[in-house]
Amino acid sequence: MPIGFGILLFFIKVAMKDKTPEFTRAFDSFKDITPQILKEYNIKGILTDLDDTLVTHNYPIPTEEVKTWLSTLKKEGIGVCLISNNQKKRMMSFVKDIDVGYFYNAFKPRIHVINSAVSVLNLKKDEVVFIGDQLFTDVRAANRAEIRAFLVKPIGTKSTLFIKFKRKLERKILK
Ligand SMILES: [Mg+2]
Repeated sequence: MPIGFGILLFFIKVAMKDKTPEFTRAFDSFKDITPQILKEYNIKGILTDLDDTLVTHNYPIPTEEVKTWLSTLKKEGIGVCLISNNQKKRMMSFVKDIDVGYFYNAFKPRIHVINSAVSVLNLKKDEVVFIGDQLFTDVRAANRAEIRAFLVKPIGTKSTLFIKFKRKLERKILK
């Protein structure tokens, strides 16, 4: 590990003390999160990150896999709300042909949008889960909002340098 990176990691660990983000369960893919699994946790609604969680970063439209997943959830009466730190234009392109709630410019790990989304779904916090690929934004936001988090492996290969940097930190912290 480069010395600079090690020092930075040390300071981040000190700053976060016992606040390393905690998730309820990890999955390889959003596709593995089935209505049956949600029932095990008594989850009736999903808040989910978009980029690298459902599709690769900035991929403009839902894939068939995403559409299938969403329709399976809908059949089971499970509400879905997308929460992304990405911009309006990106989100509007993605949601054009699907029926989900959505929030863009969410500023995760800030939690005001998460709280709004829980209200939109008309559920209690213990009835929803946040699905995301990033510890420091998605899981941390869920922890701060006091809702459960499911961590998924990032789909993307097109990540920005900043995201790559965060992933490196995440791997060190998960060790
Ligand atoms: Mg993401």
